[in-house]
Amino acid sequence: MPIIEAIAGFHDELTLIRRDIHAHPELGFEERRTSDLVAAKLTEFGGIEVHRGLGKTGVVGRLRVGNSPRTIGLRADFDCLPIEEANEFAHRSTHKGRMHACGHDGHTTMLLGAARYLAQSRNFDGTVHFIFQPAEEGLGGAEAMIRDGLFDEFPCDAIFGMHNRPGLAVGKFQIRDGAMMAGGAFFDIAIAGKGAHGARPEAGIDPILIAAHVTTALQSIVSRNARPVDTVVVSVTQIHGGDAYNVIPERAVLRGTVRCFSRDAMVMVEERMRRIAEGVAAGFGAGASLDFRPLFPPLVNNTDEARFIADCAADIVGEENVNRHGPVTMASEDFSYMLERVSGAYIQIGNGDGAGACEVHNPNYDFNDMALPLGASLFARLVERRLARLGRDEAGAE
Ligand SMILES: [Zn+2]
Ligand SMILES: [Zn+2]
Repeated sequence: MPIIEAIAGFHDELTLIRRDIHAHPELGFEERRTSDLVAAKLTEFGGIEVHRGLGKTGVVGRLRVGNSPRTIGLRADFDCLPIEEANEFAHRSTHKGRMHACGHDGHTTMLLGAARYLAQSRNFDGTVHFIFQPAEEGLGGAEAMIRDGLFDEFPCDAIFGMHNRPGLAVGKFQIRDGAMMAGGAFFDIAIAGKGAHGARPEAGIDPILIAAHVTTALQSIVSRNARPVDTVVVSVTQIHGGDAYNVIPERAVLRGTVRCFSRDAMVMVEERMRRIAEGVAAGFGAGASLDFRPLFPPLVNNTDEARFIADCAADIVGEENVNRHGPVTMASEDFSYMLERVSGAYIQIGNGDGAGACEVHNPNYDFNDMALPLGASLFARLVERRLARLGRDEAGAE
């Protein structure tokens, strides 16, 4: 079964919607026009309850068919980035310094395409929640929707998300079971020494020397505390201290980032960092305090759901075009918060390879409209298989 025919039939309309959103990008939690557009489309499709205001600008559409208690959540993001677009085509951004450089315009359009098709075909038994999330780009949109009761008001047995991948040909998908994208944290270590004249070190406690020792000692976390088969990064990226050639300062500050693929590893790194910073500083008679701030949890696909979405993708593009052992990436994605609460999976859809395959977050990037019916078909197929009418569709649900 290739692309769903009915969806291929309105490919042009999806392209217009995608380019309209592209031309009017909005930053996280400011997506008022986009939110209005999504709500208007869902209403126009018919039979979909539209709920607004979750995570400020988020939108959830609920489509209930039949009376099965089974539910499924499909999620797309719709915020842009603070980038000045370099493209010259007709649908380029009309908002200065704002650009859909991560393809969220395409993700939203693919989910709208699935909603339009499912609202009409209604070939399933259960409830679909179309989740349109704001502020994915580091502003906490997923968490905000969850805080506003997303999964209380719209419970989902399973949830699925999709992101475009430049460098992967259109018509191909990739995914992996388990950890796929890194979790991240930022940290600050403040070292409190004792100031003195630069020529009289015996009168002070030098926080610069301590900062250097702490930086060196932190390297042992990856080499000696992390399991060798786990991927962990601890990077000190800033050292600040001192203003004069002849003054030993009172304080120094280290800053940096941590990346890893499990909650356990993140907890271990924080605990070791605190012990090293405080212990090394104490050895010199100084004090140290660690401020450790997790940003995103790692994105971890559930085994059954990863297999299920890969099976559905294979229905559309053929098994040979689905890589079930895709690469892990050190980038992060806040869909991970949703996956911490509901089992599900996140798949990558090809945005095109070869010369034109511009990376996301680049001012020359554009979502590839050829991928629209593929992604919309995958979202729709997830519903038709997961919520298959019992006794009618032997393709079966789970
Ligand atoms: Zn992005
Ligand atoms: Zn993105």
